[in-house]
Amino acid sequence: MSYILLDGKDLAGRMKAEMREKVENMAAKGVVPGLAVVIVGNDPASRVYVNSKKKDCAEVGIRSFEYALPEETTEEQLLGLIDTLNEDDSVDGILVQLPIPKHLDEAKVIRRISPKKDVDAFHPYNVGELMIGTPIFAPCTPAGIMELIKDAGLEVAGKNCVVIGRSNIVGKPMAMLMLHNNATVTICHSKTKDLKSVCKQADILVAAIGKTELITSEYVKEGAIVIDVGMNRTPEGRLTGDVNFEDVKEKVSAITPVPGGVGPMTRAMLLVNTIKACNMHKANMLS
Ligand code: NAP
Repeated sequence: MSYILLDGKDLAGRMKAEMREKVENMAAKGVVPGLAVVIVGNDPASRVYVNSKKKDCAEVGIRSFEYALPEETTEEQLLGLIDTLNEDDSVDGILVQLPIPKHLDEAKVIRRISPKKDVDAFHPYNVGELMIGTPIFAPCTPAGIMELIKDAGLEVAGKNCVVIGRSNIVGKPMAMLMLHNNATVTICHSKTKDLKSVCKQADILVAAIGKTELITSEYVKEGAIVIDVGMNRTPEGRLTGDVNFEDVKEKVSAITPVPGGVGPMTRAMLLVNTIKACNMHKANMLS
């Protein structure tokens, strides 16, 4: 069977070109969207993510402000910085790169970000808005996946969608977006009995597990759409997904590659949310 390659890199590139134009128009009216990126400690993977987010911002003309705090930063200091950024008019979006060091309370930090600047959409206020179907900001990874599916002209309504993973940042909001798009949704996790047979019912299978190539052709129904969220490193340093691409590709109707699938879409949606936040904050200057 021939399959559609859901090319996130290509779509993200097209979206960025459109965003660049939008930001230029905003700048002509004296408004430049701003994203504050806060990183605490020296996690090398977080450093890579922060650098790429800054690069993306520069590409579309968004101003980025980096706050690199040392590992020993206290909770009070971090919360103090967030308070300052909440009040700063040049900052439209605030992102605290996760994970943060263990001595800091992640939930408390997320709750401190103003929901109006919460471009990751992790604040319980935004989670609630998503739940009732009126999201201000949609969480970047699931929202990026929906864009990728729509861009390929694939139908979601009425489909059986199985999401593997129930994290707050991927699995749960993914299931919610699929539900709002009229899919019939099943959420699986590490305690799911007979994962294979549940997955085999899926017209759309989303793997957000964090286990290298766990999903083989035995889990996939003929003609399914397979979305691989996984970003794992083998001991040799190779980047792998949660899906064994080579094994499943002849069976699927569409599939995302790793790299170049979901990852670039996550990054593009952060820019979308930042521009949206700016439009909300500075509507009077832009009208
Ligand atoms: P997470 O918080 O660790 O959640 C993993 C989920 O997978 C959990 O719900 C867990 O179940 C479930 N799980 C683990 N082993 C399983 C198994 N053998 N069978 C069935 N379910 C299993 O991870 P996450 O933050 O959601 O991220 C998932 C993956 O996506 C990671 O590889 C991450 O790096 C990647 N990711 C990629 C992007 C991107 O832009 N491409 C963005 C975010 C995350 P329990 O709840 O029962 O423990």
